[in-house]
Amino acid sequence: MKFVIGNWKMNGTAKEKLALLKSLKGIKTKNKIIICLPFTLIPGENYGIVIGAQNVSEHQNGAYTGDISGKMLKEIGAKYVIVGHSERRLYHNETNETVQAKASMAIKNGLVPIICIGETLDEKKANKTVSVIKKMLLKSIPSNGKFIVAYEPRWAIGLGITPSEKDITKVHKIIFDTLNKIGCEKTPIIYGGSVNAKNAHDITTIPHVDGVVVGGASLKSETFLPIIDSIN
Ligand code: PEP
Repeated sequence: MKFVIGNWKMNGTAKEKLALLKSLKGIKTKNKIIICLPFTLIPGENYGIVIGAQNVSEHQNGAYTGDISGKMLKEIGAKYVIVGHSERRLYHNETNETVQAKASMAIKNGLVPIICIGETLDEKKANKTVSVIKKMLLKSIPSNGKFIVAYEPRWAIGLGITPSEKDITKVHKIIFDTLNKIGCEKTPIIYGGSVNAKNAHDITTIPHVDGVVVGGASLKSETFLPIIDSIN
């Protein structure tokens, strides 16, 4: 079983959600499909598909205008939540510490956090990938509870660029070894960044790759279903 996690980002309408979920309804797959939707699209008929959110507050409740709590997400039917996506780290200045607090709050409210980590192009060019990934990982994960790690190199997301098999192999092994040392070896490690129907299968055959996060290509069944099928 591999995870196929769609990340709709700030895209989509209720009509488009229904179209995708209806096309996924009753799909024959060994994979676990999760669609992480904008908050407004989470409630309602989800046709048995597992739904996630894309952000959660690090606070339980209170005077945090514009934020959304884990309890609220749980109440509207979310089971998973992406935390620390590079777009949130970049545009909302989320630090590893914020991401860790958000992940802990998600767990406290019965959600499974999908914790994103990934190096920038400059860090990669400076041969800092290993140290950056280890630090981001150890500082972003919660001290207990079940979570998922998503390796999403910043230089690959949304750009149609995918790392080489060698690059993915190396980073996923580092993540696995680091998690193994702290007794979290069962944590799923997912790859994300420009996944499509042509590369998804090969990526999921790499050791310690437990699935894929799909951004742009998860919005429409024409591009999402072939990815799911290719991994079957
Ligand atoms: C993402 O942003 O989580 C992602 C995987 O994006 P894309 O597939 O569009 O590169």
